[in-house]
This record gives sequence, structure tokens and C-alpha cells, in this order.
Amino acid sequence: MKPLSSMPGSPVLNSRTTGNAWARQGSHLPDLDGSSARAGLIARLELGFRRLLGWHKTFAHGVYPVEHKELTAAKPIRRLPFPAELIIPLQQHKGAPSIPIVQVGQEVMRGELIAVADGFGSVPIHAPATGVIRAIGLAPTAEGPKAPAIFLKVYPAATQEVQAGPARDPERMGPEEIIQAVQESGLVGLGGAAFPSHVKLRPQTGRSLHTLLVNGCECEPYLTCDHRIMLEQTASLIRGIRLALKATGAKCAIIGVEDNKLDAIIRLRAHLGRKPDLPIRVLAVQAKYPQGAEKMLIKALLGLEVPEGGIPADLGIAVFNVGTLAQMGELIPKAQGLIERVITLSGPAIKNPGNFLVPLGTPVRFLLEQAGLQGELGEVILGGPMMGMAVASLDVPITKGVSGVIALHPEDPALAARPVYPCIHCGECVRACPVFLNPSLLGELARARQYQAMAEHHHLDQCFECGCCAFVCPSNIPLTQYFRIAKSINRDAERRRQAKRSH
Ligand code: SF4
Ligand code: SF4
Repeated sequence: MKPLSSMPGSPVLNSRTTGNAWARQGSHLPDLDGSSARAGLIARLELGFRRLLGWHKTFAHGVYPVEHKELTAAKPIRRLPFPAELIIPLQQHKGAPSIPIVQVGQEVMRGELIAVADGFGSVPIHAPATGVIRAIGLAPTAEGPKAPAIFLKVYPAATQEVQAGPARDPERMGPEEIIQAVQESGLVGLGGAAFPSHVKLRPQTGRSLHTLLVNGCECEPYLTCDHRIMLEQTASLIRGIRLALKATGAKCAIIGVEDNKLDAIIRLRAHLGRKPDLPIRVLAVQAKYPQGAEKMLIKALLGLEVPEGGIPADLGIAVFNVGTLAQMGELIPKAQGLIERVITLSGPAIKNPGNFLVPLGTPVRFLLEQAGLQGELGEVILGGPMMGMAVASLDVPITKGVSGVIALHPEDPALAARPVYPCIHCGECVRACPVFLNPSLLGELARARQYQAMAEHHHLDQCFECGCCAFVCPSNIPLTQYFRIAKSINRDAERRRQAKRSH
């Protein structure tokens, strides 16, 4: 179970190539009507000037992996068929696992509630297809250990109509009604965090929210599903933003889009140009990894820093991914649960890469069969190659937080074993770390097993495992892996201390 970012110095990834990526996008710009053409001209001029003068909206440090987005960026979202069986984990979100309410042998309709939330911090789960519950038991997960899941045998002849509640008018819904509806839909952060969306709409900080940031960066290599959502589901996205504005009471929303997605910037601005009264702006940020991380986006768009140990809500800000808000805009008016999501299926081992709408619970094996393989299959990664997880079993299902499946050849340079050399104190990792840690020093402490000191004196908990330090390290030191292990050991030690105290 290792993220590729723990494989440092990869020649596949390690290159500055963002240069003219935005210019190439003319090949799949949307058809331009009058307002789109105007928005396009303004966006091109703005980005041109910013590049010329170096006035990028961005954060300090970070890295420039090869994007590989050209494989799928122009591929419209397609719906894939249903597999014979869906594997639906009860823990697809941060918070307590959902509680199953179905029995083995029970028939369920697509969209029907099959597991309920375990408290406010949890979410329910809905059947992603019409079929019969074959089993409730343990299933493989991307993280490694097996976890409880519902196995749903899909009826091949079913019409797959979706069961939903009575339609709602979003204009007439009050803030509490929206928050409750979002929880009932089972919506979580679809950008990867899988944090329950209703909790973000009503943070427990006691502070009111003034700004909504909408994350359209998609800075991980290969992934383009958010890009396609901004182009193809623009109306749902704007509806979702309006719902979130109403629910939070925030005064304005800013959609941050990396400047390698010029067509998405144009499409969004043209759409908003037809509704000038909406307090929603679209701003271009520099294409740089990890621009999509919450704290980096806040810095780039608002120039603010989230305090150590704090969350965006402490500053009166909520950050949502574009995919999450597009689903909010789609599900809430229909009173429907989250049963499917858009993912990118890409990588050199995929014959027909693209962006696909898939039922939650679809096994990775089925996806690879549908897209076809070319050459031998090496690692398969869930999510992007910088922060995603290489899976040990192809029976791992797509869950709410999975935005892509990347398949590599065994001989891919990103997978090559590299000798680890001693630290040469070049400082590259310090210059790359977006949260200003000293990864070199932290790495030395990790090797000396000084895990407590890493947390107490060197801000280990600020590390969000972005992988930038390992990515640039010429000595191939797997720094991110070290930090992940150190944090896990510290968490276990804390749990033991708490258990001792309570006895
Ligand atoms: S850990 Fe790697 S990148 Fe950091 S200073 Fe040492 S050799 Fe350089
Ligand atoms: S120390 Fe953590 S946050 Fe900093 S670059 Fe490394 S992985 Fe990213």
C-alpha cells in the first residue's frame, strides 16, 4: 500500500511542464456564443498578462509534476454499464461507519436507503443499483485491511430507475432544510477527503462563514473528472454553490480554477455572465501541485493562512470541491441519494482512457475490463499518483471519495526501485514543502525513531502528506512514507495513553 509520491525522483513525474498547457486547450474549447467569446477573450488576456508579469495567484513552494491530462481532458463523461455485483463499504466517509438496515436476500431499488447515518458526523448510503443483497461481510479496501461492506447482486434486466423522494424547489428551502437534505443524500467531499458535506455547511466552530471557496484546481496528474464536470455540469455546479451559500449564510463564493483549464474558466464565466446578480466569481490560479489542497487554495485566492491546528472555518471560510457542489445541485432538488460519481480512468496501461460516470461500489477489475488494457498491468492507483494509494486487490470498489483509477505498466519509471542514499542537505525538500516544514530534519528524526519529538517540536501534524518533499529528493528518501508511519505510531501511542487514563 504505497502512494507513488513515496517513490521519489520519478523521471515520469519530475519535470516542469506546465508552460503552455493552457494554450493547447484551444483544441477542445466549448462552442462559443457571444458571451462565451467575450469571456474567452478576457480570460486569455488576463492569463496572458499574469504569465507575462509573473502575477500568479498561488502559494509559496510546491512542485510541477508532468500533467498527463491530455489523455482524458477532452473526453466527455460517459456512463459505464453496471457490473454483476457492487461492493458497498459501510465506511466511505470520515466519521462513524453507516449502519446497514437491509438483510441478506432482500431486494432493493436503485436509490433506496440501505444504511443509515450513525449520528450527525456520519452519512447514510443508498443502493447504487436495483438488485438483491447477496451478503453483508468483509471486503478489501484501498487502505489494506478488510472492512464491512454490503454485497449487492445487480439485476441485469432491471430498468434501473432511481427511487427518490418528492421533488423540491431549492428556491423555497431554508438553510436548515438544505443541511438536513444534504445529510440525507449521503453527500461527502468527492475530491478525495470524503468529509461529510452537511458538517462543512454547519461547522462546529461557533464562527459564521463569510466566504465559500470552490475548488476547481484538480492539481493531481492524470485526473480530469473535475475539469469535465466544470464543462459539462455547469448548471448543477452553480445550483450547488447557490444552495451552499444559502445554507452557510456566506456572502460570496469564489471558484478557483488552475490556469491549465482555460476552457473551464471561460465556460463558468460565460454561464455566470448571464446571471450578473449572483455573488460568484471565477479566478484563475497557477497550475502547480498541491494547489488543490484547502490551505493552499485559501492562500492563493485570499492571501490568508489557516492557523496551525485550525480549520478553514476558523477564518470564516468553507472549501468545497466542484464535484461535490455539482452533486449537491443535482441531488437536492430531486431528493435523491448519492449513488454514482464521475471518475477518470487513465494511465499508460489503459487502452481507452476517459471520464466515466460509475455506480458507487463498482470493483476496479470491472473498470479495467471496460476500458481495456494495453501491455502488462503493473500498479493500479486509486486517486492521483501524488497522494493516491496503490491497491493490492482489483476487487477494491470505487467509493465516494475516489476520483480516479490510474493503471501503470510494471516497467513504468514511477515504479522503478531506486536506491536510497543519505541526505546531502541540498534543501530541495525544504524549498518544496508548501507548509514550510523541514522534511530533511523530520526524515532524520524518523530514522532515529524520535516520533514524539517530530510532533512536539517540529510540527509533524502540519504535514498533510502531499508528497512534494519525496518527489524532489535526489537521494530518493521516502520522506512522505516516513511521516505517514510516524503519525500513525503517534496516534496509536495517544490511544494507548487515553485508554490507560480512562482505566
Ligand atoms: S532529504 Fe533529500 S531533498 Fe531534503 S535535503 Fe536531504 S537530500 Fe535534499
Ligand atoms: S513534509 Fe509533508 S507537507 Fe511538507 S512536502 Fe513533505 S509531505 Fe508535503
